Amino acid sequence: MHDIPDEIWAWIRRELPDEGFRTWLWRAPEETLRSVLGSAYENVLSADSVDARALSVVKDELVASLPRACACPLLVTKQWLGIWAKTTPAMIGRSFESVRKRNPWLSLLRCRTCGEFWYVAYDTVDDGWYFERVTKDRARAIGEDDDWPDTFDEFENVWPNDGADRSKEPPAGFLAGVAMTLLD
Ligand SMILES: [Zn+2]
Repeated sequence: MHDIPDEIWAWIRRELPDEGFRTWLWRAPEETLRSVLGSAYENVLSADSVDARALSVVKDELVASLPRACACPLLVTKQWLGIWAKTTPAMIGRSFESVRKRNPWLSLLRCRTCGEFWYVAYDTVDDGWYFERVTKDRARAIGEDDDWPDTFDEFENVWPNDGADRSKEPPAGFLAGVAMTLLD
C-alpha cells in the first residue's frame, strides 16, 4: 500500500475543491494514484467538467475504504464533533494525549498515532468538541511560551466565570465534516 498523499485526504474531507484536486491529479504520479483511488481515478480525470454530485459519492466511498491509522486525516482544519459514546473524554483520551492544558476546557492535544497537534475546546454547556489543527511550530509556541491561538478566547462556554466579557456564540468556521460518520 502506498502512502496516501495529503491532497487526497484534503479532497475527501472537502477542503480541497474538485477543480483544484483535478489540477493536482494531472501532475501527480499516476501509478500511486491509480492504486490509491482505483476507478475513482478515471472518474475524476475523464469527465469533461466536474460533476460535483458524482464526485461526492466517490469521496464518501473513499472515506469508508481508504486505510488510515487514526481519525486525523478525516478531521477538517476546524472540526466540530458532537458528544456520543465514541467521543467521551475517556475515548478522546485514548486517541489523543494531552500536551498542555490552558484551563479545564482548553488543551493542546497530540494524536497518539500520527503525532498531529490539535488545539481542542471541550464545550460542556452545549456539548461538543472543537478541534483546530495546529502546526508543529504553533504547538511549540504553546508549549514553550504559553502562546495560545485566540480561536476560543471569546467563547464563554470554555472559560471559568471570571467576569470577563465573552459570548455564547460558538467560534466561527467550525464544521461537522465527514468525521462524524466515520467515528461512529
Ligand atoms: Zn492522527
